[in-house]
Amino acid sequence: MPPRRINDSYMDVDSDSDISILGDEEQSSRVKAKGKGKAVDKSKRDKAKSKAKEQPYAWEASYTRSWDTVQEDEAGSLQGAVEDLIARGRRKRLLAPANAIRRTIIRHLILLMDLSSAMMDRDMRPTRFDLMLQYAREFITEWFDQNPLGQIGVVGMRGGLGERIGEMSGNPQDVLKSISERHKLEPNGEPSLQNAIEMARSSMSHLPTHSSREILVLFGSLTTCDPGNIHDTLEECARDKIRISLVALAAEMKICRELCDKTGGQFGVALNEGHFKDLLFDLIPPPAQRGVARAGGGGISNPAADLMMMGFPTRLPVTSPPSLCVCHSEMKSEGFICPRCSAKVCDVPTDCDICGLMIVSSPHLARSYHHLFPVKAYVAVMSLDDTLNPSLSCHGCALPFKDATAPASGPAADGTSPFGRYRCPECKNDFCADCDVFVHDVVHCCPGCGK
Ligand SMILES: [Zn+2]
Ligand SMILES: [Zn+2]
Ligand SMILES: [Zn+2]
Ligand SMILES: [Zn+2]
Repeated sequence: MPPRRINDSYMDVDSDSDISILGDEEQSSRVKAKGKGKAVDKSKRDKAKSKAKEQPYAWEASYTRSWDTVQEDEAGSLQGAVEDLIARGRRKRLLAPANAIRRTIIRHLILLMDLSSAMMDRDMRPTRFDLMLQYAREFITEWFDQNPLGQIGVVGMRGGLGERIGEMSGNPQDVLKSISERHKLEPNGEPSLQNAIEMARSSMSHLPTHSSREILVLFGSLTTCDPGNIHDTLEECARDKIRISLVALAAEMKICRELCDKTGGQFGVALNEGHFKDLLFDLIPPPAQRGVARAGGGGISNPAADLMMMGFPTRLPVTSPPSLCVCHSEMKSEGFICPRCSAKVCDVPTDCDICGLMIVSSPHLARSYHHLFPVKAYVAVMSLDDTLNPSLSCHGCALPFKDATAPASGPAADGTSPFGRYRCPECKNDFCADCDVFVHDVVHCCPGCGK
């Protein structure tokens, strides 16, 4: 059947429901301007040309947007902007649930990249395509760091087809290698959401029920060129419990919003380069498992905790005699021995190719663990009156706090402490703002109480 081109005319640019990082006024005007430019699809090439004339040197381009995101205060200082950034991070953390919630830590994700000609648009620097590749690399590294038991596959969409770029793999190096060669990913033609999603879906159909199935679409186009009815695909994804999240680079399309809403994923439109990254990195923590029935009909009731079998392998030293591995049939000394069938595999975590046992190492499990029991958010100290002996220095880094008697002049930004002190609700130790961020984002364990 010849591909049918759907021009989705429903562009809901004004009711953009993203969490705004700009002022509302500024945001809506930006989005409107963006929508207007995109609607005229054919003039894209001319537009790019005229842009190139305005900016003769590529190095100039990287400096054009820097002032958009940071605003000086009346005194011309950037202090306010920096404090606001910190406060925003704190607010986000306070909103996050502090109680243990059920999360899927064995994740399977297909990264679906738009490689259509719309990705050559230069409204994001240097181009949407280059920016997407750069952020995708950072995303993959960070994703594996936080989800060591997960696996990622990569699918591209161009020329009206879905294209398998990288097989599902638990090794970050393999995934990064699959998108390392830029010239092999050169954008052209139309994207096809349906073809690409079908391809992603088929590569996840064999997965066991205890793992999550997720698709993350990075979409820069405003059209999709599909051979059939994409709503059928949507229904099937909802039935297979595949969660689709989408980051749009142009504007909101109704079908994209629907894909995310009906499968329980997240949808966002990137306003600028920084916001694109924020939207992408918001998808790194494992999703909460849902107990309630989803809107799409694929309802699940919260099942009782079920146990799954895992094996902890024996690591072979480099000095052991070389033998064949079962995954690549290569002669190697180092490797891991499956505890059940004694097959030799190259990398953990993986499923044993012979007996199917999931082989993990204990550090991998431990690193996934912090998502289930996050460190409680520290409370900003607003007054020192009720503290008997306020400590003079940070419990984390031992740097002295600001003068305890004189709080910083001016109204403190929302959520930040005027004394620069943040207190652990468990051990009541005070920490500085930097340590607060470090403990929650990197260490995932309070140095005061070990929780
Ligand atoms: Zn191997
Ligand atoms: Zn085995
Ligand atoms: Zn500190
Ligand atoms: Zn503590």
